[in-house]
Amino acid sequence: MTMLRTLLWFVAAAVAMLAAVWLAERPGKVTAEWHGWRLDTSAGVLLIVLVVLIALCIGGWLLYRWIVGAPFALLEGWGESRKKRGYRALTQGLAAVAAGDGVEAQRHARKAEQLLAEPPITLLLSAQAAQLAGDRDGANRAFTAMLEDEHTAFLGLRGLITQALREGDQAKALGYAERAFKLRPQTPWVVHSLFDMQAQTGQWKAAQDTLDTGVRRKVVTADRGRILKALLLVERSRTAEQDRHSADALMLAREAFTLAPERIAVTRRFAELLVKAGDAKRAQKTIERGWALAPHPDLARLYLEAAGESDPLKRIGVVRRLVAHNENDSESHLALAQASLEANLWGEARRHLEIAGGTSPSARVCRLMAEVEERAGTEQAKVHEWLARAADAPADRAWRCAACSAQHESWRSVCESCGAFGTLQWRAPGTYGHVLPPEVRAELEFAGKPAQVSLPR
Ligand SMILES: [Zn+2]
Repeated sequence: MTMLRTLLWFVAAAVAMLAAVWLAERPGKVTAEWHGWRLDTSAGVLLIVLVVLIALCIGGWLLYRWIVGAPFALLEGWGESRKKRGYRALTQGLAAVAAGDGVEAQRHARKAEQLLAEPPITLLLSAQAAQLAGDRDGANRAFTAMLEDEHTAFLGLRGLITQALREGDQAKALGYAERAFKLRPQTPWVVHSLFDMQAQTGQWKAAQDTLDTGVRRKVVTADRGRILKALLLVERSRTAEQDRHSADALMLAREAFTLAPERIAVTRRFAELLVKAGDAKRAQKTIERGWALAPHPDLARLYLEAAGESDPLKRIGVVRRLVAHNENDSESHLALAQASLEANLWGEARRHLEIAGGTSPSARVCRLMAEVEERAGTEQAKVHEWLARAADAPADRAWRCAACSAQHESWRSVCESCGAFGTLQWRAPGTYGHVLPPEVRAELEFAGKPAQVSLPR
């Protein structure tokens, strides 16, 4: 660039020089007459005078501009510096928020608000600063003011939801979440917050609608949506039963089972209602399918109830028929051990417990072993040994929350500890719940498809 400019200067200088030489070689004369005045000069001098005149005109114009424009320029400069100071205050305020200094942030926020005529951006800072400084009313005021502007309304709602949740006002938070969901149903945190709040307050149908939108907008994966929907249907089935709509209850439970038979709570719910409806055969078929995917002691109990067998020896046969669908799972051996124990078949009970326990028997296995030895009349030392082992044994499978690891006595859809929905799994600590083999998963996803398509639009 510099090279080019230098070159152009050289060219211009050369042209000027050539022109001067050309004029000098042709010393023409110019004569002008006007009202008795007479001017005699050469063409070169006239040209120089013309150039000087033009330069003087330009200079005069610039001087005029400088004198007349000065006051405005001063004002402009002042405004500029006001804006500059405003933005500096804003930057410092944001930095204070990031550093967690609420008081400092509030000081800068006030300054920025005075200097800048841009409410959206200063309001956000004011709200965050107030929130940080623990100024609840200030934060609420700023977030509410943000609702006025369409560009900041969503952000304002987010702040208000956080505020309401901090104050423990669930109804208010839910109201704001519903408004945010209407504004932007494609934003993940909106879908998740609204869904959680609706589930926590037992609004199962509303939660299902939110979930459907989430799946449609790809905020929730199809697989996760399928499982959550099944669990919501379980809850709706319970509510229907409480309201004495047993036909609806059964229908909802069946729909849940078609969606997610690998969920113990789903299988249990459907089988339970089938037993109540007197359809023992179908109840057994349901449990057998559920056992193959995810066995659980409650399912074994329900299976025996459906079979209606009271003879202890024959009950072993019933359990054997069930566990044939998932022979190698430790729950299968534990179920057989339990049935053998009730039929006083000590050797059989011991054998299954040994298989279930493997190299490091769990507390449940140790306790059952102690019971077997006790009832079999073995020496007390052996019983005590098993009970002592139970104290140090690795923890058993239990209903554990996948989000917070809290343990629950029985299954529930909402974790009592962290409030998450559908996170309780029957598993040992530090392990996954039942993980389905890929082919079963693919089959379920395929089976789940029609339900996804027929969602209300
Ligand atoms: Zn939890």
